[in-house]
Amino acid sequence: MSRTRTLFVTTALPYANGPFHIGHIMEYIQADIWVRFQRMRGNTVHFVCADDAHGAAIMIAAEAAKKSPQDFVAEIAAGRAPYFRGFHIAFDNWHSTDSPENVALSQDIYMKLKAAGFIATKTIEQFYDPVKGMFLPDRYIKGACPKCGAKDQYGDSCEACGAVYAPTDLKNPYSTLTGATPVLRTSEHFFFRLSDARCIKFLQEWTRGRNGQGQPRLQPEVLNKAREWLAEDEGAGGKGLADWDISRDAPYLGIPIPGTTDKYFYVWLDAPVGYLASLKNYFDSGKAKTASGAPQTFAEFLADPNTEQIHFIGKDIIYFHTLFWPAMLHFAGYKVPDNINVHGFINVSGEKMSKSRGTGISPLKYLELGMNPEWLRYYIAAKLNANVEDIDLNPDDFIARVNSDLIGKYVNIASRCASFITKRYDGKLGDHDPAAAKLEHDSAFAHDEIGRLYEEREFGKAIRRIMELADAANQYVDACKPWELAKDPAGETRLHCVCTSALTLFRDLTIYLAPILPHVAERVENFLNVSLAHWNDVSINLAAGHQIANYQHLMTRIETRQVDALLGIESEPSAGPKAAVATPSPASAAKAAAIPAPNASSPSPAAQVKSDASVTDRYISIDDFARIDLRVAKIVNAEQVDGAAKLVKLTLDVGEIENGQPRLRTVFAGIKAHYKPEDLIGRMTPMVANLAPRKTKFGLSEGMVLAASFPDDQGGVFLLQPDSGAQPGMKVK
Ligand SMILES: [Zn+2]
Repeated sequence: MSRTRTLFVTTALPYANGPFHIGHIMEYIQADIWVRFQRMRGNTVHFVCADDAHGAAIMIAAEAAKKSPQDFVAEIAAGRAPYFRGFHIAFDNWHSTDSPENVALSQDIYMKLKAAGFIATKTIEQFYDPVKGMFLPDRYIKGACPKCGAKDQYGDSCEACGAVYAPTDLKNPYSTLTGATPVLRTSEHFFFRLSDARCIKFLQEWTRGRNGQGQPRLQPEVLNKAREWLAEDEGAGGKGLADWDISRDAPYLGIPIPGTTDKYFYVWLDAPVGYLASLKNYFDSGKAKTASGAPQTFAEFLADPNTEQIHFIGKDIIYFHTLFWPAMLHFAGYKVPDNINVHGFINVSGEKMSKSRGTGISPLKYLELGMNPEWLRYYIAAKLNANVEDIDLNPDDFIARVNSDLIGKYVNIASRCASFITKRYDGKLGDHDPAAAKLEHDSAFAHDEIGRLYEEREFGKAIRRIMELADAANQYVDACKPWELAKDPAGETRLHCVCTSALTLFRDLTIYLAPILPHVAERVENFLNVSLAHWNDVSINLAAGHQIANYQHLMTRIETRQVDALLGIESEPSAGPKAAVATPSPASAAKAAAIPAPNASSPSPAAQVKSDASVTDRYISIDDFARIDLRVAKIVNAEQVDGAAKLVKLTLDVGEIENGQPRLRTVFAGIKAHYKPEDLIGRMTPMVANLAPRKTKFGLSEGMVLAASFPDDQGGVFLLQPDSGAQPGMKVK
């Protein structure tokens, strides 16, 4: 038996400017399941997190709400508990980056980095709002696009033509805070010297390293990303790491930089230090229970070579957690992370959320509607794996999975057998059925395999294996027919044995599901009058004469109307499969994590469509569709684009004639990873012929070709093709 482990586990710090969305809840559920599993194995886990309470966005939002930033953040923080209670997410400590611990730790890390020669200063030129009296972050500057002239474009890219530029390139720039014309001012900024050769060397080793269990520190796709940034791959075109600007000028909501009077740490410097601040707060409070029971300080805990530090994060913040964070810690003499576990985003019915279209599934509304949190825990677990993949919350699938697996398979075993024991045998178990010996052995024997899958965060695979065992148990009950045995006085002994074996199999399933369904497991513990708290409890023999309690119903089915209410819809027909459009989209680097889409295909069967606003928003008219000029195009040429990671340049014949000559169009399509250009030449494909031309850095793109894919291109991208005989220029309708 391996020695027990000591784990320090965190989830990413949520930004304290709004309530949790479904993406946060997914991450917390993922980490909580893993933590509960580790505890069932006898490992010691400290599971902490904190609100990220600094930065310009909170400063400005608080001002708009006429509150102090502290009051603003405190109100947000006070709203966190119902989510944790509601979804059984058991953090040991929740703290804030706006805390004395975080100030002390951030300043200490900075001073040590400075002493080691990792801090440089540089004078930079930046937009300044003379009315507001502050330097403007890029997101607070707008103006006309320097390329196409479109008005009211953000300081980094144009939504009209897709051009990418610096805020100083904007024409007629203005501050979105005051409307004033910003002026350029110089300021001295502090930089963390990520480009230092010592840093590169350390990160090359750290990113490829292994944790204390001999497992890779990073998932393969995360390691590839990090290596790209470190520019290890020849020909990857990486320019190496740039130094990181870690200072902001007053006024700023943050931690003062020692030795300055008007400079603060950029929020991304002190945010991850918040992991340590929360842990320190937890140890200092005396609530942290160590493995041996002996008292231990925060410093001793971090210095202990057995301590493993594990972060769960979303794919949008990999850069911060695989480069800045380990380098900062290492060169300041702190412990470095053992694992960065990265997950993808959660979509609802394949759609990412758009803020303009709504707020998606509200976790609080889910709870307010009285929906069982363990349904969602189960469904999310069934979707999760160890890869950096987006997962999809599909309402129909959600209802089907929970009702079929949890009610139809798992709960069904107990509900069919328990009452015979309590009514006929005084609540006492009998001997085990010799005919079920192999089944019981297989069930207990699955313990290692399922444990390994939990350890590797392959929750979906673990659930598949558990449901195989549930299927086998149900087949056993079906074959033995206890309800028939009960009618025959000669079947009395056998009935007792069959129910005893079936409940033993049910006990095993409950242990295997306990990290996901902690509340159900507690209730089954009372019902079966046996410990289910440890992974090894599958080996406890439920002997003849063991007393159990009356069976209480464990879980109800999900009703379609509950999911409809959650999605804010009354009734409507289900949506069919849809084709996605392959276009190169600039990667966004928002601080927010995964966000769901507001609209989802309805779980309800075809029903009368009501003509209220919420329903009409969900459909387009035939006239709307007719506005899209879809044409058959022939790909007359296709070629690689120098310097483009995703694009293929297509030359298309759409049957147009100009001055007596065929007029060909150029379209840049984001399909390089999926097609060889030479294989495309001569193919027909539908295109959107009246899409506004779009300037890219490689030239003008005059339309869009259509392709099918799942979100995030999982499973590939497939160019659509008309049936043979279609001619260039034909309209698709
Ligand atoms: Zn533009």
